[in-house]
Amino acid sequence: MQAGLRTDYLFRLANHHNGLVVGTGDLSELGLGWCTYGVGDHMSHYNVNASVSKTLIQHLIRFVAASGDLGPAASAILLAILETEISPELVPPDASGAIQSTEASVGPYPLQDFNLFYTTRYGFRPSKIAYLAWNAWHDATAGAWPPNTPADKRVGYNLATIRTWLRGFLHRFFATSQFKRSVAPNGIAFPRPPIMETLADFRVAPVAVVRFPDSQIREALRNVGKLSPDDELNCGGCGYETCRNFALALLNAKAEASMCVSYLRKQAQKKANALLRSIPSGVVIVDRDLRIIECNRRFAEIFGESNLLAFDAVPGMAGTDVRRIVPFSNYFSTCLSNGEDIRLESLHFEDRLLGVTVFSIEPEETAGAIITDVTGTELRREEIAERAREVITKNLAAVQDIACKLGENMAETEILLRSISENYAATKLAPRGKIIL
Ligand code: SF4
Repeated sequence: MQAGLRTDYLFRLANHHNGLVVGTGDLSELGLGWCTYGVGDHMSHYNVNASVSKTLIQHLIRFVAASGDLGPAASAILLAILETEISPELVPPDASGAIQSTEASVGPYPLQDFNLFYTTRYGFRPSKIAYLAWNAWHDATAGAWPPNTPADKRVGYNLATIRTWLRGFLHRFFATSQFKRSVAPNGIAFPRPPIMETLADFRVAPVAVVRFPDSQIREALRNVGKLSPDDELNCGGCGYETCRNFALALLNAKAEASMCVSYLRKQAQKKANALLRSIPSGVVIVDRDLRIIECNRRFAEIFGESNLLAFDAVPGMAGTDVRRIVPFSNYFSTCLSNGEDIRLESLHFEDRLLGVTVFSIEPEETAGAIITDVTGTELRREEIAERAREVITKNLAAVQDIACKLGENMAETEILLRSISENYAATKLAPRGKIIL
């Protein structure tokens, strides 16, 4: 509405004054279709920047500002323009002071202009453009930047960012915006050779249908776990009638892998299975009828040979009544009804001790248990205590022995010293020349 009114007034004023409305749009906006169609900034009598990308305009402004040709006041204004957020509408800032950001919606212009250039000038396929973009942008410190580019504008992009915005670009350029370019006003073809001769020589069908080779469709299907026709359930859970249509939507960046419910389920199942396999404890999950939904091999192993055989025959033992296997099924019932976890530190089972934690997954629906054979641990604990007792007893004996020996030594030493002292006293008292033995 704002853009529409603005343009309306401009055209009427131009008519009134016998003038022309000069367009403010540019190549970047037309490439992405980021302009208000017909009645807004899309329309003018002549669009001077129709072949000039936004990043090139920014470089030119920076160049003129740095040259000082227009004086310091003009340079300051030009730099202030460059510092201003590119914003689609002239609406006031929000409560935090932030204004609308165009780049937050359509992606960083350095990337989008890069995508636009290699798509329209060379017709490179997306994977090649992504490869070039990664080489150009993944390390902001590598290579030279255009003169006068401020430090905060020297930004790098990782592959995920490049991919995200390239998808966005392809969707906007090929699928949604040609109708705007088809009726764009004339403009200058610049630079030479022109990227798009006033956009007239580059035409995408108004409603573009991008055709993908079968190999690409198969790869998209493989990426969502559809390795053979049997995996293509065509259930419609993703919103597309067939898996193939979904794959096409993936290639057109209109869908994401996570929209396929069977793929999501398989992914979750794979993760759960990997966890169950690798965990050293027994794990079992039961439903409200105490039937096993899933268990791991260790669980079956803990509860005996016959259960292990049953597990190997039917991995996961789905549907088996857990009451037939564990002696503590009543704790599942308690946990299911009150939703509280139960911990049993050493439960006797046959000749072993088990540590059991029963936990609620969905109150009244599902509960699980982790079972650990702690017999070895308990025995080791006993063994360590016994060894400690032995060591203490031995140490005590040794200390007593030492004390004893010390006592004997002291007595002997005392007797010896006493005799030396007495002999010494006697020697002192004897007449000279006589030795008293
Ligand atoms: S949800 Fe998955 S399995 Fe179902 S139609 Fe879509 S892509 Fe195919």
